[in-house]
Formats: sequence, C-alpha cells, structure tokens
Amino acid sequence: GRKFFVGGNWKCNGTVESLSKLVGVLNAGEIVSTDIVEVVVAPTFIYLPMVKDKLRKEIQVSAQNCWVKKGGAYTGEVSAEQLVDMGIPYVILGHSERRHILKESHDFVGEKCAYALSKGLKVIACIGETLDEREAGDTIKVCAQQLDAIKEAIGDNWANVVVAYEPVWAIGTGKVATPEQAEDVHLEVRKWLAENVSAEVAESTRILYGGSVTAGNCKELAKKPNVDGFLVGGASLKAEFIDIINSAQ
Ligand code: 13P
Repeated sequence: GRKFFVGGNWKCNGTVESLSKLVGVLNAGEIVSTDIVEVVVAPTFIYLPMVKDKLRKEIQVSAQNCWVKKGGAYTGEVSAEQLVDMGIPYVILGHSERRHILKESHDFVGEKCAYALSKGLKVIACIGETLDEREAGDTIKVCAQQLDAIKEAIGDNWANVVVAYEPVWAIGTGKVATPEQAEDVHLEVRKWLAENVSAEVAESTRILYGGSVTAGNCKELAKKPNVDGFLVGGASLKAEFIDIINSAQ
C-alpha cells in the first residue's frame, strides 16, 4: 500500500524565534509510527538548516522551490545540487503560488521536476485548478495539462514523485474541498497516471490533498481511498499539525 504522507508547507512564514518554538512543539508531540506516515515540513531556504538540525529525526524537511537547472549565474536562485549538498531530501515544485504569482508555466515546472529528480531529490509536485476553471468544468483538463507537462519532462520516472492536488480556491481561504470533491479529482489523477505512465505508478504514487486542511476536517478527507495524505499550509504552523499527522489511515 501507499504510505500516508503529511507535508507542512510553511510558505514565507516564521522567524528564528517562532520556528524554534514550532519545532519544539513538533518534537514534543505524540505522533503515530513513521511506519504508517511519512512527515515532511518545508521552511523557507534560510531556515532549512536550522530546522533540519533541531527537528526530531522522524520528521524530514523539504525546500519550497529550486532552480530549473545546474547552478551558476542565476542571482537569487538555489540549485537542486545545493539542496542535495545540504542533505535536504525533498522539494515542493509547482505550488500554485509560484504558478500564479510568479508566472511559472506548466513546462517550466515540468523541467524543474526533471532536474530535481535527476539530482536525487524527491519531488512534491503540485497541481490544481482555479475557481474560474472549476466553474467552467475544466478541473480535470487543467490538472491533466499540468501532469502532461511533468510527464513530458520526467517520462516514466515517477518513483520519487508525490503529487499534491491543491485546488487554488481552497488554498488559504478556509473553503476546504469536500471529501467527495477531493476523491473525485484524486481518482482522475490516478486514472491519468494509469493511462499515461503505468498501472504500477498509478497504484504506488501518493496523491495528497491540499487547501484549508485542518485538524477538524482531515479525518473525513483521510477516509477517502484515493486521498493518501495532505499538504498543509496555515495549520502546519500550529500544534494542530500533530493531529493532522495522526489522521494517517
Ligand atoms: P492552506 O492549508 O493554508 O490552505 O495552504 C495549503 C497549501 O497551499 C499547501 O501547500
């Protein structure tokens, strides 16, 4: 089976003081065995080494982005090689905030996934539709386009990819997708994997839900057979993240 996965995307939040406190809370929390859940948190680059050093070993760390190719004259960027050098195992790529605010295209996200994987990073690849796209009936089409661009770049090499379905209208809005809405899309994503990659990859790839996940709504979502975990924003900065970890099915 697929091991449940709970990611905390801390986005551009925190200070040495607040993140040290948060790490303390996570270190003190009682969490279910890492045999049944994989837990990853993603601070901004600058706090990654500090968080990695202070955090209990059951919780891994992730970057929130990386450069699309080998490092060099790219002011302001951080390369996949540098993440590997610092012992960072994961990177989040294609988050909607980067697609929409920073105008990262489907192809650019695909290329980033391919490069990061080629350097040995594991990738949390985010997809998801806007409210306009959902209302136009284009949810599956948009997700498939995002997946097509990733597949174009990475081919059949999905072993180190976790897919996060994050409907843009649910992110930071308090408007969580219903368990049925999430399950419907996750099932379609799994079908897409079966048809475009392989039955094995479809069966083994974790598909996370993200968007206004809280301790209060995670249990019902986690019951759905195709919801293999969560990518959590706001609630991952609070003690309730422990409860979300413990919703592992
Ligand atoms: P919220 O949980 O704050 O809605 O954010 C979700 C998200 O974007 C995780 O990547």
